[in-house]
Amino acid sequence: MSGDGKLVLLVEDNEKNMKLARDILRFKGYRVTEATTGEDAVASAATEPPDLVLMDIQLPGIDGIEAFRRIRSDPKTAKIPVVALTASVMAGDRERFDKAGFDGFIAKPIDVKQFPDQVASYLTKGRA
Ligand code: MN
Repeated sequence: MSGDGKLVLLVEDNEKNMKLARDILRFKGYRVTEATTGEDAVASAATEPPDLVLMDIQLPGIDGIEAFRRIRSDPKTAKIPVVALTASVMAGDRERFDKAGFDGFIAKPIDVKQFPDQVASYLTKGRA
């Protein structure tokens, strides 16, 4: 499976998590842009619209949910699939992300083996 040069915007404030996800995506042939805050994520999505956003929820400044809302409310970026990247996998949190309108979520720590398939499937599915 190959990323085929698809562009993924990776939003993550933890350096180690960022490096791991970035390395896997690049290895699989994706292009990766990075943002470490919600504000930067929103700006980056508008400047260089990615094929998929992987959005950490706990971020300095606005959180991933607010950044997601801003991406959705801008017609330029509204159609980009956004997947929550989160350590919170409790039922209540899943519900919260569903309600907010995320296209899905990937649990952290990411599973090195499953991560590429998860990303590929969200790219194929597009906006839910
Ligand atoms: Mn975080």
